[in-house]
Amino acid sequence: MSVRSLCEFTAKHGDLDRRFTPSATALEGQLGQAAVQARRGPAYECEVALQGRFGPLLVRGRADGYDPPSNRLEEIKTIRGQPEAMAENRRHLHWAQLQTYGALLCAARELQEVQLALVYVDAGTQHETVLQQLCSAAELQATLARRCGLFVDWARQELTHRAARDQALELLPFPPGPFRPGQRELAEAVYRTAVNGRCLLAQAPTGIGKTLGALFPMLRAMPGQRLDKIGYLTCKGTGRITALEALHRVRDQTPAGAVRVLALVAKEQACEHPGKACHGDACPLAQGFYDRLPAAREQAVAEAWMDPAAQRRIALQHGICPYYLGQELLRWADVVVGDVHHAFDPNGQLHGLAQALGWRIGLLVDEAHNLVERTRQMYSAAISLAQIRAARVLAPALLRPLFSRLIQLLGEAAAEQDGDYAAHDEIPDDMADALQELVSGLGEHLQTQPMAHGPVLNFYFDVVRLQKAVDRFGTHSLLDIEREALGSSVEATLSLRNIAPATFLRPRFEACHCAVLFSATLAPQGYQRDLLGLPDNSGWIDVPPIFAPENLRVQIADRVSTRYPHREASLAAVVDLMARQFSAHPGNYLAFFSSFQYLQQAADALALRHPQVPQWRQDRAMDDAARVAFLTRFVPQGQGIAFAVLGGAFAEGVDLPGSRLIGAFIATLGLPPVSPLQDQFRQRLDRLFGAGHGYADLVPGMHKVVQAAGRVLRAPDDRGWLWLMDQRYRQPEVLALLPAWWRHQP
Ligand code: SF4
Repeated sequence: MSVRSLCEFTAKHGDLDRRFTPSATALEGQLGQAAVQARRGPAYECEVALQGRFGPLLVRGRADGYDPPSNRLEEIKTIRGQPEAMAENRRHLHWAQLQTYGALLCAARELQEVQLALVYVDAGTQHETVLQQLCSAAELQATLARRCGLFVDWARQELTHRAARDQALELLPFPPGPFRPGQRELAEAVYRTAVNGRCLLAQAPTGIGKTLGALFPMLRAMPGQRLDKIGYLTCKGTGRITALEALHRVRDQTPAGAVRVLALVAKEQACEHPGKACHGDACPLAQGFYDRLPAAREQAVAEAWMDPAAQRRIALQHGICPYYLGQELLRWADVVVGDVHHAFDPNGQLHGLAQALGWRIGLLVDEAHNLVERTRQMYSAAISLAQIRAARVLAPALLRPLFSRLIQLLGEAAAEQDGDYAAHDEIPDDMADALQELVSGLGEHLQTQPMAHGPVLNFYFDVVRLQKAVDRFGTHSLLDIEREALGSSVEATLSLRNIAPATFLRPRFEACHCAVLFSATLAPQGYQRDLLGLPDNSGWIDVPPIFAPENLRVQIADRVSTRYPHREASLAAVVDLMARQFSAHPGNYLAFFSSFQYLQQAADALALRHPQVPQWRQDRAMDDAARVAFLTRFVPQGQGIAFAVLGGAFAEGVDLPGSRLIGAFIATLGLPPVSPLQDQFRQRLDRLFGAGHGYADLVPGMHKVVQAAGRVLRAPDDRGWLWLMDQRYRQPEVLALLPAWWRHQP
């Protein structure tokens, strides 16, 4: 075990303190350390390798420096801001590391005592602040022995749990009842993937029981593959409920507590004191968090079912924050259910801990057709003049020139560019410098504001995110400035948009033992492989549907053009077709249009030309209650046409079996609107992966179409109609992207 991990595990106490602390970059850390080491005398030893065995535990690490003549052992920390402003628990952790190195050094060199020096070096000025303690070998040994004892007790408990867990999983039967059609095929492919330690793209249709079909084989493979954890990750919140339902069945079939399940939710959902800062001076649930954490953790681990309700109950019982309890429990869970960002975001905690602690992880990614878009967002950033101006008003006067400089440079760049949109090959040096200076200045200011939270801090996070995106900039991303005239002033937004997240995701896939990405809509596989950076040996499975192909009557309206310039002219034909279908086969239908504007036009036209057809519409500002009301109108044997946006809230994850929904109309091909941005997007993707794949438009467009169409048949006995309303659905490249089992009428 590394010294750092041992101390993080055993040396935390007192308040939770998530106060903002600007940290030095890795490079600044190396430079700071090198600067300090260069100032020391010739006898100074750098990077002193140390290790020691305590019972079954081997602890090792490298102390930053040791000076034998003065018998001084140093731990060098490069920081931003004042060392006095550092949170107490962070400094405590630094001392714990240094004390551990001290104990190992004393043992290795038979020293009676050692001078411990915690050296804080400023990332900007490289000024040193040194804190010292003279410690005897005996007291250091005693402290280390106590820490190792704590860890070994935990590790023994975990090994016992692990053995019981693995034994239970080896005996885990597949859920009662026979396999559904296609489910066995999926389960076998997932099991093979786990055993071979690979990645798999699994396109599996609705109704086969995908969640169980993926989860059970991964659980069964867990003992043999020595998996530490399974991450069941979803792109949208709805998938988490299904996963927990499946895990309930695992719980029913295993001894109590055998498999620990943790479901993570966003901080906004779990926070008991919204608007407060997360530290002991502001939030009562942060006070003494680490002192009360062990008892809460013990209870949660004993209960084993750690869903958000259980986390809240246990946390409040012990007077600590439920959200951060959930984060702490990550180390203790066998199956973690949560959002995909835990594994794929630059700061994803599941990935970070797995790297730090050497976990073997099996990933299951549900609704994986959304992963490209979700991960693009994780590696993108933007900032507008309006944001900078608003933050400048709130910033201290001393810092305002830094804001003004960035405003000036972004405004000038926007004014000078040809047109309201321009892509740039690189960020101009002066703008990059201005951004860096703003990040540094604001960071140093915030370091002196221990209670900082709110708009200025949020703005700081935005600029840090942008700066990191600038640092990562490459062919995988697009840098652009959008300009908009607002009266006499100009608005401009600088964006770094990731277009191909493969560069960042490939190492993530390589780091886990195995990963299964599943969805009803993944084809073509090349799109997912290229954009997600899946390893070359990744597998692919396309599970056949459970429906008889003739149950879905697919019609192509090939006399209709829904291209943007033809929409007005074709509106009457579109709604007449819908009314004819409704009159011939009355029932509930969903009609998908590519934008709210187009949706309104079509719904108005239907109301005008066919007022007898009942209709209801999605609108832009629907809250949860409005969404439920929209879906509630789909009663069995009901009649009407519901208008919704393609790619929107009702185009996926909506389950309306039987006569609740008997058909869908899909107007357009779901292509993004023509724009200079879209043009750049396409050019960049063509440059990366070759032209003609449709990666920028046709493939994502058809994913939306197939997802929306997937609302019609939900159960094996369902029958329904699907109208594809555009003549381009006859084009070979479009037909090639439709599911092979769809049988379109000639
Ligand atoms: S309850 Fe809310 S404010 Fe308090 S520590 Fe938790 S997340 Fe932070």
